Amino acid sequence: MPELPEVEALAGYLRQRAVGRRVDRLEIAAISALKTYEPAPTAVAGRAVVDAGRHGKFLDVLFEGDLHLVVHLARAGWLHYREAFPATTPLRPGKGPIALRVRLDDGSGFDLTEAGTQKKLAAYLVTDVSAVPGVAKLGPDALAADLPTFAERLRSRRGQVKGVLTDQSVLSGVGNAYSDEILHAAKLSPFAITDRLTDAQIATLHAATRQVLGDAVERSLGQRAAELKGEKRSGLKVHARTGLPCPVCGDTVREVSFADSSLQYCPTCQTGGKPLADRRLSRLVR
Ligand SMILES: [Zn+2]
Repeated sequence: MPELPEVEALAGYLRQRAVGRRVDRLEIAAISALKTYEPAPTAVAGRAVVDAGRHGKFLDVLFEGDLHLVVHLARAGWLHYREAFPATTPLRPGKGPIALRVRLDDGSGFDLTEAGTQKKLAAYLVTDVSAVPGVAKLGPDALAADLPTFAERLRSRRGQVKGVLTDQSVLSGVGNAYSDEILHAAKLSPFAITDRLTDAQIATLHAATRQVLGDAVERSLGQRAAELKGEKRSGLKVHARTGLPCPVCGDTVREVSFADSSLQYCPTCQTGGKPLADRRLSRLVR
């Protein structure tokens, strides 16, 4: 799932490439992806792209006249910038990966795509960004939050730090992948309980959050459009590296189930060398 660094890179690319261009038309191929009716997609035609940004993991493309196309890419969504489209015929609604297409006046444009059969990508055409349900509930940006804000938000919710850190209403932008990386960098157990964290642990976690996300944004921005291809992340130390050596200490990265997914961590770096109990697994073993 694209998280803060990837969405930031997509916004950065659009700022560079699309700002100043006028929209020829907005085409919808997956009717269910567009969650708003008013304004109609035709309202975008003729307007220039004036900015692109991000709210947590939501991408925000701003057109002149204060019209926003806000997109949540969900688990398998992505934005593909095209220097040219193969055909001028409009997209036909269907089952392909393209959810919607924005054609610009220089012949270029972008497709918002979603792989797989689970269609969760959500697009909103709004004049007020806070009208997007998910955006209104977002907590402060995880990368921008200063230490007092970060500490206050984290302590506002009692729970396992992995879950609290990925709760978009606490802090926005961090998902399953970067929370694994942040907790590893902070040398914290993903199951540590937030209201028992010391001030020093919170400060370390805050610094790790900025470091991990900042580095990832830089790496993502360094990729050119051609390489901006979804889930290809580089520089991860524990996430999706089960069974591989931790690059910090050499211990084997382990995995444990968490919520509806799994998390990866290094026992030596994060849990005093003790593997975390996998509740799902231990139930099976018994
Ligand atoms: Zn380690």
